[in-house]
Amino acid sequence: MLISPEALRRVVTSMCMAAGSQAPEAAQVAANLVEANLCGHDSHGVGMLPRYIHSALDGRLQVNRHARIVSESGAVLVVDGCRGYGQVVAREATELAIARVPRQGVCVMALRNAHHIGRVGAWAALCSAAGYVSMHYVNVVGHAPIVAPFGGTDARLATNPFCAALPDLGDGPVILDMATSKIALGKARVAMHKGEPVPPEALIDAQGRPTRDPNVMYQSPQGALLPFGLHKGYGLAVICELLAGALSGGGTAQPAHVRDNSAVNNMLSIVLDPAAFGDPAAFHAEARALMAYVTASPPAEGVARVLLPGDPERICRAQRLREGIPVDDNTWAGLVQVGAEVGVDVDALARGAAQGTRAR
Ligand code: NAD
Repeated sequence: MLISPEALRRVVTSMCMAAGSQAPEAAQVAANLVEANLCGHDSHGVGMLPRYIHSALDGRLQVNRHARIVSESGAVLVVDGCRGYGQVVAREATELAIARVPRQGVCVMALRNAHHIGRVGAWAALCSAAGYVSMHYVNVVGHAPIVAPFGGTDARLATNPFCAALPDLGDGPVILDMATSKIALGKARVAMHKGEPVPPEALIDAQGRPTRDPNVMYQSPQGALLPFGLHKGYGLAVICELLAGALSGGGTAQPAHVRDNSAVNNMLSIVLDPAAFGDPAAFHAEARALMAYVTASPPAEGVARVLLPGDPERICRAQRLREGIPVDDNTWAGLVQVGAEVGVDVDALARGAAQGTRAR
């Protein structure tokens, strides 16, 4: 079914509040998840909410928490997310980093112990909007590994996203935002819910054999996702573990750390002011020329035009704002079920009915 962004935000806000969040926090979570859906990343949209709500109810996610500064030294800032909603604490930590860039032209911010921060591009977009360049290395702890190392046959890593973004030079910012696995786990969940196979060379089963069946990620023993780009994606995933997990103090995927089936992110963000490197106008002109050159490549057969990172999200966003957000039946059923657990009538809320929230 197609649902309007407003209706989805109503559903998410009510469910978060029913699970203990104050209204501003619930609204931030709703805005972030629905924005991920608008950008086409259904893997990081409202389909995440049942997991968030269960974690909020049993304390693996701490509601109404805020980012706490652990230490500051020169251009380095260390922030604890206190297991709060990533949608809140990653925004706060990124805003703290942005506020410090004018001092030295750069801020290197390590955020540790944040509950799932969702689409990393959302935080890079804040840096872009401030006129800055940023790079973000992220690892994921709190649950068993789900990504196999290159050449291995079982999971030892997480989907460890990397993101880099430039300021908006006119057509929307270039934002490269990607999991280091060939597909995000949420994309396997979406494929399973739709009953579709995943792309080739994205998964192995529990015996280490290649498969396109997303169900292997939801069975015991579990299969594993594969890194993108063979040894190169694997290498970047390891770097994310080391920079986001080890350097921040938030911990890595190695088995000495608690695994309570939660999704906790650590992120190392490097935020730069282009003006600290020289004339920003010259940087902008060179960047624009390069982007124009690259995208002028004659498109391959079946390709409408060459895009830049960030373009697919903008194109999808414009379409979904016009037409509504497609939500598959299984994702919707998951929201309805968890809504019932916290006393929220999701179907009524989506219809806009005032009586959507029932007493628990
Ligand atoms: P993806 O493969 O859909 O896109 C990756 C990047 O490639 C994007 O920047 C996109 O703009 C760009 N791109 C796609 N098609 C393109 C084209 N034709 N031309 C030029 N550029 C193109 O993304 P993904 O790897 O599935 O990741 C999805 C989301 O999941 C990301 O937002 C990521 O941050 C998030 N994620 C979060 C976590 C977490 O723990 N918080 C973990 C993994 C992934």
